[in-house]
Amino acid sequence: MPWRETKDPYLVWISEIMLQQTRVNQALPFFNRFIAEFPDVFSLSKAKEDRVLRLWQGLGYYSRARNLHFTAKHLVRSFGGSLPENYQEIIALKGIGDYTASAILSISFNKPHPVIDGNVERVLSRYGGISDPVNSPEGKKKIRLLAEKFLDRLDPGTYNQAIMEFGSLQCVPSSPDCRICPLNESCFAFRKEKVDLLPVKLRKVPVKTRYLDFFFISDSKKVMIEKRVKNDIWKNLYQLPMIESAAQLSITRLRRDAAFVKMMGSSDMKLEKLFEMSHPLTHQLLHIRVFSTNPESRRDALFVDRKWVKIDQFDKYAFPKPLEIFFNMLKRG
Ligand code: SF4
Repeated sequence: MPWRETKDPYLVWISEIMLQQTRVNQALPFFNRFIAEFPDVFSLSKAKEDRVLRLWQGLGYYSRARNLHFTAKHLVRSFGGSLPENYQEIIALKGIGDYTASAILSISFNKPHPVIDGNVERVLSRYGGISDPVNSPEGKKKIRLLAEKFLDRLDPGTYNQAIMEFGSLQCVPSSPDCRICPLNESCFAFRKEKVDLLPVKLRKVPVKTRYLDFFFISDSKKVMIEKRVKNDIWKNLYQLPMIESAAQLSITRLRRDAAFVKMMGSSDMKLEKLFEMSHPLTHQLLHIRVFSTNPESRRDALFVDRKWVKIDQFDKYAFPKPLEIFFNMLKRG
């Protein structure tokens, strides 16, 4: 992994942001492409946001890319293009939380800050016998105390990377092979037969279900797209014109829906379903459908803030994953 062979704060920063919520194998090609185009903070700061999002397309959690871009510009403006070396300044940067700050400070600057991610929480809760939920204030406090206690202050970067690897390779979430674990003699969970009971977690936020209907409106070789500007998932990515409903609507009801009539100017239009999928996000489950339609008259309201783009120019724009899957399906015919 290229980011394991470097102490360059910029590369460590990019890799740690990419690895949040994303598996190593999935992140690797994105990291290589991103770094090839933006090898340093200066090139990233000069980039257009559309291009940054385009390179991020498929990784999800797009606020990570928007924050990286914002912070790169801020670093060039206020820090001469360097990442600060102290905790207070680095944690104040947009998109950098305790985990990323500690990773950069320990790996790049050899500062004694323990990283605490899901892997580390699991190892410490089992090894140290912490039965408070790891996502409760009390549990977090105890995990941090243990993390500080065990941290190798002479080589915190190697220690932090090692404990995260240990959690992902050895002390895995279900049925770790404790018999071969070098820590088993002193591990609380192993000695007390509580490996499967730790860590404890409070129940997650309930998942919200959303129904998004997109409309594929084409005019010869061009397709109508719009930019998502609201503070919501996929902010600043592009999409086909879309309406959201509180429930899955039949085609007849969709045609009569007020938002649909407002957008298209009519409820008589033909709608043909081209694509359908469910797309789970961390706290949301999206039901996606794409319909082809052709408004008979060119309505001004439909053209406001939207544009026609040739389908072979789509690779200049970042689209949400479900639409990318739909476009790939169209290309394959
Ligand atoms: S003995 Fe088992 S539970 Fe304890 S640290 Fe090793 S792998 Fe994890």
